Amino acid sequence: MNQRITQLDKRLSNQIAAGEVVERPASVVKEMLENSLDAGATRIEIDVEAGGVKLIRVRDDGRGIHQDDLNLALARHATSKIKDQGDLETIETLGFRGEALASVASISRLKLTTNTSEDASSGWSVQASGADMQVEISPSPHPRGTTVEIRELFFNTPARRKFLRTERTEFLKVEEVVRKVSLSHPGVSFVLSHNGKITKQYIGDDEERRVASVFGAAFLDSSIFFSEERGGMELRGWIGLPTYSRSQADQQFFFVNGRIIRDKVITHAVKQGYSDVLYHGRNPVYCLFLSINPRLVDVNVHPTKHEVRFRESRDVHNFIYGTIHHVLADVRPEDSNAGEANPLLAGVPAGTGPMQAPMSFGGRSGSQGVRDPQMSVYREMFAKDPVATLPESDDVTMPPLGYAVAQLHGIYILAENKAGLILVDMHAAHERITYEHMKTAVDSEGIRSQPMLVPLSIVVSEKEADLVEEHGVEFSGLGIDLERASEESIIVRSVPTLLAKSDVEQLVRDVLSDFAEYGESKRIEQHRDEILSTMACHGSVRANRRLAIPEMNALLRDMEETERSGQCNHGRPTWCEFSLAELDSLFLRGR
Ligand code: ADP
Ligand code: MG
Repeated sequence: MNQRITQLDKRLSNQIAAGEVVERPASVVKEMLENSLDAGATRIEIDVEAGGVKLIRVRDDGRGIHQDDLNLALARHATSKIKDQGDLETIETLGFRGEALASVASISRLKLTTNTSEDASSGWSVQASGADMQVEISPSPHPRGTTVEIRELFFNTPARRKFLRTERTEFLKVEEVVRKVSLSHPGVSFVLSHNGKITKQYIGDDEERRVASVFGAAFLDSSIFFSEERGGMELRGWIGLPTYSRSQADQQFFFVNGRIIRDKVITHAVKQGYSDVLYHGRNPVYCLFLSINPRLVDVNVHPTKHEVRFRESRDVHNFIYGTIHHVLADVRPEDSNAGEANPLLAGVPAGTGPMQAPMSFGGRSGSQGVRDPQMSVYREMFAKDPVATLPESDDVTMPPLGYAVAQLHGIYILAENKAGLILVDMHAAHERITYEHMKTAVDSEGIRSQPMLVPLSIVVSEKEADLVEEHGVEFSGLGIDLERASEESIIVRSVPTLLAKSDVEQLVRDVLSDFAEYGESKRIEQHRDEILSTMACHGSVRANRRLAIPEMNALLRDMEETERSGQCNHGRPTWCEFSLAELDSLFLRGR
């Protein structure tokens, strides 16, 4: 091989850049949509042929490109979005790297037509050809806006082309990109067609309706909307109820300043927010938007801009985790929406779709839902006289879970409420209540720790030993006393009392790796909760124990008051509701 250095021609160096940015047709669509949105488009049409390999055409009504800039539009490292280093640190546009058009133009036949004026008889088109990507500009009428037409993607990079899947699969990926992008820009209309047929159409609308059209209307009824602000960050959006979980983690959308991202810290924080309420192995559904000062997040860490780096990742983690945890804890039974379809009756297919989601919680209003003021009246009544007979009269509002009428096979409680019938799994419900009470009791005492009989020495990496020195105070707060013994070893002197019987070495190692990865650890709490959960399970009413009606009513009232009472400690539902309309339909009874 000749070992002399030569300058690569423009096309080849752009092709190398394209290798990172353009994996498949869907990546092209993503970049073009971002450009249209950055140009302030309100309507974007995407026409795709043969999965995007034959043609991708993206047409927008944005501000267009100035005639004098056309020679730069297809050049690499040319952008209108940033000018200097300062801009790079405060990015508010989706694009900024100035390489999408250049990359795509080097691996396809690309033509861009644009017009900045309202005069539809004017306009220009630009194409680049040859090894030096020589630009040709010619007059071409176009309404105000821009159309980018990309034909024969990968025609000159056959290796890339070989990696493509079937036309249908590639198109599904395009569709997925359009879904995602459309979520962060509900006011913009998107029309997608494949081989001449419209397959998706999102009309510019409010956010809630856009979420409904992307996720399906059922999602709104089975999710909680919230908005929370803290420390200069805002988190808002929809989180699916734990019972609306899925077997796949495929409906999890997280946007940071309008940009969809995949991020380890975020995924972990959300997942942890669901800990304690999600059935093992299930994945939550969510659509969340984080707004944060652009100075506190670096978006320039990945060519496709799918990843970000937070300046204070620990604060972000804590904020997301804390908010979701708190919102989910606050879900209580409320006045149900009588007559709403019950997925139990509709026969939701197991495994793929949402897990049985029969509960009628407050739905959208969720955490902000109005709590029944009557509740305290009932509590007082039961406190004074546990066998009080309840009013079944019009002047008293019915509590959300109604009043018990019977016990079934020693397992279920049947109750009547305003909407119809409530069925409660008595053990599951009691277990959650006991568990929450135990957690509260333990929390109020703080974490008690006890010294190890023999201090435990553990060999760790130098980085982990550094962490022990840096975060000593925080570890003590968690009930573990750690000390650095040498460059690569530490000594454990005391551990939380409740966890004294666990595998202390493993626990400390896991806590350290959490700190290294996420800047904090919830592992101690999780272990503690696991132990409390087991204790709660043993301390709760067992199946086949006969309960008197007042005891059942007391349980119903407790459920209404208890955090997370919709799921047992293992994430299974504790109760469900059948409305009168649903019962009627079982008997083909018209009303
Ligand atoms: P970047 O988006 O990172 O700036 P691109 O290669 O994607 O880089 O685009 C280069 C430039 O071309 C953009 O900065 C923008 O000024 C212009 N541009 C691209 N697409 C459009 C569009 N649809 N409407 C208006 N201007 C566009
Ligand atoms: Mg761009």
